[in-house]
Amino acid sequence: MKSLKSIKNLKNKKVLVRVDFNVPVGDDGIVDDKEDWRMKAALPTIEYLLEKKAKVILMTHLGRPEASQKFIKSKIHKVKNQKYSLRPVAERLEELLNRKIKFVNDCVGDKVKKVANEIKTGEIVMLENLRFYKEEKENNKEFAKELAGLADVYINNAFSVSHRKHASVVAVTKFLPSYAGLLLEKEVKILSKAINNPEKPVIIIIGGAKIKTKIPVIKYLSNKFDNILAGGVVANVILKAKGVDIKNSLLDDININEVKKISFKDNKLHIPVDAVVCNSKNKVVLSAIGKIKNNKILDIGPETAKLYSKIISDSKTIIWNGPMGLFEKEEFSSGTKAVAKAVVKSEGYVIIGGGDTIAAVDKFGDLKKINYICTGGGAMLEFLAGKELPGLEALK
Ligand code: ADP
Ligand code: MG
Repeated sequence: MKSLKSIKNLKNKKVLVRVDFNVPVGDDGIVDDKEDWRMKAALPTIEYLLEKKAKVILMTHLGRPEASQKFIKSKIHKVKNQKYSLRPVAERLEELLNRKIKFVNDCVGDKVKKVANEIKTGEIVMLENLRFYKEEKENNKEFAKELAGLADVYINNAFSVSHRKHASVVAVTKFLPSYAGLLLEKEVKILSKAINNPEKPVIIIIGGAKIKTKIPVIKYLSNKFDNILAGGVVANVILKAKGVDIKNSLLDDININEVKKISFKDNKLHIPVDAVVCNSKNKVVLSAIGKIKNNKILDIGPETAKLYSKIISDSKTIIWNGPMGLFEKEEFSSGTKAVAKAVVKSEGYVIIGGGDTIAAVDKFGDLKKINYICTGGGAMLEFLAGKELPGLEALK
């Protein structure tokens, strides 16, 4: 992976940067300062380019306009849907950088070409939502070629979408000299160190739902990490695989036989010993694992929280993805709260990732005390599962 810093001369070069500015835009059309951390994380790369007198062209996706067929435009159509427009994001970026951003309401076509041709040194252009074109997600070569045609150099600064084989992440690298942005480089470095050369003991706390993305992480790290602490639906699945009757607890979409095949050495994998459960009458009760009646596990219990907190405080490197329970509801938030408090208090190096995990630390702890907040949940999990990320491979 070649670094942006290895480019000798950026003066007057048109640099096309894939960022991830997929941030929530309020109904008032404003990106507020609690939700723009993904943008802030990319600023050093943009500032570096400006310092080197480059011409900066930013591109990103926003939301899932493609989920509603109505909004998908083929290449010949003009983008019309304003709900997913990046204009508010460009406005927020103006505030963050304290300089003018030139927003173009399309990302390919003659108008965009003209703007790219006229861009001056030190100027920033921001293109409209890449996903207004279905070609983006299809990794379409023609579309990528049009994007590439706007610039002299391509930078991937979006680790969080690098697990996706999309045109602005993969196909585009076929048409331009391609480099890793400072943020991408940093995220890869931090995660690689955590996997291959961490300060020990090293642990991962893994919970939440989306099981399919998490079991491969447990599989890959089970022989590398000192401890794996399971919570949430992840714990349900492991309990089930171990033959524990978990009654009506959520399992998500997983083949239990796959989970049964994972071998764990030295009791490294920790599963809950007690749980907060909700019975059929919606009453909240505490139960030891193995003694659950007609109930549903919705949080780890206090004994488990205590055990997990102790392991966390004894560790030097800690990765956390996935809440311990249905933390959005007060009565099932204690486990997640305890873990959030323990990681915030930890003197070890703490990495967190995943939208809900970040929200939980923000709610119960203090994000400022976290050593590294990874911008991508899905990409982080694939990386931690030892998979090759297509966006990173494309930069090799
Ligand atoms: P992240 O966004 O941090 O990657 P996930 O999206 O995988 O995390 O999972 C978060 C969701 O999992 C939360 O909405 C939470 O309520 C839910 N969850 C966690 N534990 C349970 C449980 N035992 N039963 C049902 N839902 C759970
Ligand atoms: Mg989530």
